[in-house]
Amino acid sequence: MTIPAATESDRSAAVETLQNYVGGRWVPSKTTDFVNVHNPAFGKVIARAPLSTRADLDAAVAAAEKAFPAWRDTPVVQRARAMFRFAHLLEQHFEEIARTVTTEHGKTIDESRGSTRRGIECVEVACGAPSLMMGYGLEQIASNVDCTVFRQPIGVVAAITPFNFPAMVPLWFLPFAVVTGNCIVVKPSEQVPLSARILFKLLEQCDIPPGVVNLVNGGREVVEGICDHPGIRAVSFVGSTPVARTVYQRGTSTGKRVQSLGGAKNFVVVMPDANFEKSIEIITESFYGCAGERCLAGAVLVPVGEAHKEARDRLIESARSLKVGDGMQPGVKMGPVISGTHRDRVKQYIDKGEKEGAKLVLDGRSVSVADREQGFFVGPTVFDEVSPKMTIGHEEIFGPVASIHAVKTLDDAIALLHEHPNANATSIFTSSGKAAREFSRHATASMVGVNIGVAAPMAYFPFGGARDSFFGDLKVHGRDAFEFYTDKKVTITRWL
Ligand code: NAD
Repeated sequence: MTIPAATESDRSAAVETLQNYVGGRWVPSKTTDFVNVHNPAFGKVIARAPLSTRADLDAAVAAAEKAFPAWRDTPVVQRARAMFRFAHLLEQHFEEIARTVTTEHGKTIDESRGSTRRGIECVEVACGAPSLMMGYGLEQIASNVDCTVFRQPIGVVAAITPFNFPAMVPLWFLPFAVVTGNCIVVKPSEQVPLSARILFKLLEQCDIPPGVVNLVNGGREVVEGICDHPGIRAVSFVGSTPVARTVYQRGTSTGKRVQSLGGAKNFVVVMPDANFEKSIEIITESFYGCAGERCLAGAVLVPVGEAHKEARDRLIESARSLKVGDGMQPGVKMGPVISGTHRDRVKQYIDKGEKEGAKLVLDGRSVSVADREQGFFVGPTVFDEVSPKMTIGHEEIFGPVASIHAVKTLDDAIALLHEHPNANATSIFTSSGKAAREFSRHATASMVGVNIGVAAPMAYFPFGGARDSFFGDLKVHGRDAFEFYTDKKVTITRWL
């Protein structure tokens, strides 16, 4: 996504310019390029993020490399204690973090609280490192010979995160990387750098040595620098598919371990035997929660057979009733999208859907919110009669737009999933165990919900999709995180 550069008048306005956190100190970037950070509910500039340079990145990697030998030798229980302190501070600052997420991203305060909770859960799981990082061994593999496997940290690692979960996604990586003895450079989305800043202000208070955790604000230049940097051993990326693919290719070509999570187009199947009242309530949240800016959001509703009419009519009614507004205000169920550019993009998708012959049954283009006239709002939108050939049936919109594609059988629904290159998450709503099992076994997506609208694995399970939604091998958090951030050292011993 192209982010407009800060204009001269923005630069002179009294908004704070953010700094990087390198080697245990807050330092200004060497750049002359900045982007504006907005409060999307007001459309107002609230900060300026530096588009840091390669020199800024080099300084962060150098600090991390310097810190690594002592940190990897710090006993794992001590590293885990730092994460306990971090979890405690996150709890103390829970509301401040949630409010910051809403302020810079726009989602409702309850949604921000939910994602902050999910982020803290990652820190809690990381606290179990003394157990989860354990290796294994076998005695007497040959006469007088024993064999042990220890997990060792791999060095300096980096995480590059998207705009839609400003606090949670950095927490998918940092706690696991640090607790296993690595040093990390985090590059948050330049659209939402304020939540990451709070995380680092709290990390400063956790008795973590300088250089173990580093924050470099920026955009493409820093990302490319991370992929190419000889001092970085592993990269975690979350964002859109084209960038995820490039990061994977560029990072692995320089020998790095890379896990790269891409975009999504999630199908939500409704069987005729579903409990419609409850299902549509959950499905509404799936499609319109976080204004559709979720990699697990429902995008295409697939009613099977007789489910079509009731699912469509109930969804329209339920979507229409959602109160759109400033996510900080009580009663608001859907906030703005991230930027004016993205709002216009979502509206262009709606225009295209109409032009390409889909039936627009609820139009969110003209929504307006009192006292927030400059906010980046799009109302809930529903299209019926969408086909995969249409742009809206195929591309990720990442906004509050539901496309309905009715099919005759469950097999037809599963075939739809197989046709699409993305395979992040999917859901089925049914009261049939057999249908649920069939669907779960044959769906291409790797995160499957049965009567669950947002199939988000919790911190102790692996998170990540398949096909064009995920490039790599080991997924995010859970046991995979301990695999990703460690190398297995095998020692074979004979006492002579
Ligand atoms: P994005 O790809 O535009 O940006 C992600 C990160 O990459 C940001 O830090 C950004 O600075 C950087 N970046 C952007 N363009 C770049 C380029 N050309 N070269 C190098 N770096 C670049 O994604 P976004 O708009 O911030 O986030 C939304 C996307 O992320 C959606 O596609 C969504 O599905 C996806 N996402 C996926 C998951 C998942 O688990 N699979 C989770 C959250 C978001």
